[in-house]
Amino acid sequence: MDTTLHGFTTRAIHVGQAPDPATGATIVPIYATSTYTQESLGHHKGFEYGRGDNPTRLALETALASLEHGQHAFAFASGIAACDVVVRLLPAQSHIIAGHDLYGGVYRLFQQVHHDNHRVTYVDLSDSVQLINAIRSDTKILWVETPTNPLLQVYDIEKLAEVAHAAGLLVVVDNTFASPYLQNPLRHGADIVVHSTTKYIGGHSDVLGGAIVVNDDQLANRIKFLQNAAGAIIGPFEAWLTLRGLKTLALRMERHTVNAMKIAEFLQEHPRVRQVYYPGLSKGEAREILARQMKGFGGMISFELGGDADHALETARTVLARFRLFSLAESLGGVESLVGHPATMTHAAIPRAVRESRGIRDGLIRLSVGIEDVEDLLADIAQALGGDH
Ligand SMILES: *Cc1c(COP(=O)(O)O)cnc(C)c1O
Repeated sequence: MDTTLHGFTTRAIHVGQAPDPATGATIVPIYATSTYTQESLGHHKGFEYGRGDNPTRLALETALASLEHGQHAFAFASGIAACDVVVRLLPAQSHIIAGHDLYGGVYRLFQQVHHDNHRVTYVDLSDSVQLINAIRSDTKILWVETPTNPLLQVYDIEKLAEVAHAAGLLVVVDNTFASPYLQNPLRHGADIVVHSTTKYIGGHSDVLGGAIVVNDDQLANRIKFLQNAAGAIIGPFEAWLTLRGLKTLALRMERHTVNAMKIAEFLQEHPRVRQVYYPGLSKGEAREILARQMKGFGGMISFELGGDADHALETARTVLARFRLFSLAESLGGVESLVGHPATMTHAAIPRAVRESRGIRDGLIRLSVGIEDVEDLLADIAQALGGDH
């Protein structure tokens, strides 16, 4: 079946997932095998050893490539393992430019794992002058998150790619927050897309995984080499669970977006809330970028509590303790709603001064809005904030 022209959900359910040739199993089986028996010396079906290739993993990779409009996808044991492989593509002593509003684990990967080899400059990507000034002769990649974590800022991928490509850089977009349903960075000029499939793609908070998607054949060959040679592969069971989640990604993202929009509007009117960060509330240029680049606003919201700045941590602690339906937890993108405190949880690896200069203060609370009934979520937020619904 040529599914390249089909819609998103049809591709999510069918691409790479034809009935099993051996048995007719409608659902791709979990190929729990570390090796493959060869017919004779040098004659095999393309599978030799489990680290190099696995049919369940291949099904996931084929589907992910299709959903991101890429030619090649590679699945890894976690999102951070996928990010690590992208960094390993760089020649020794490279310079990286990254958006300053960056996932804490990627910041730690740059600052505490690859720091002896590469240097990173963090810039505000909404300011193209800052970006251009940061480019050096040894700069190799521009690392972009959009929408960003935790402040949900949106950047124009096409514009960033134009500037980066003029200087010979590769553009990497971490598309975890949007998911391939809401945004396809390769179509806007990105060269490499990375995902933590742990989040929206898996969607049920029961499996870790990561992926890299590219169009370029040479890049793909090098990533395929590193996937096997460095070995941070996703296992067959994890690939199968991720594939299971992927089938309902579109339905879930639609519901996440509807719920989050209602919650963002509620928070915006709430007297105890100083500021709400949600793409759906943006105006002006950000709104135009969203219209060109994203199919919807997604399920992530951050908001800052009002009140005395000296007691912001205590106030946040009190509010966080009152949530009943929202679980206080790291991570995001599952069907269940989560609440987090970026300053002490996801972004604790970033030094306080750096963090606060970027607007990640003690009063900031992040919501991963799930797909529950929105009335129940609103009631929980209302009681946690200590006001009337
Ligand atoms: C979670 C996350 C990662 C890391 O993925 P893991 O699956 O946790 O290793 C990378 N980038 C973003 C934006 C994330 O949210």
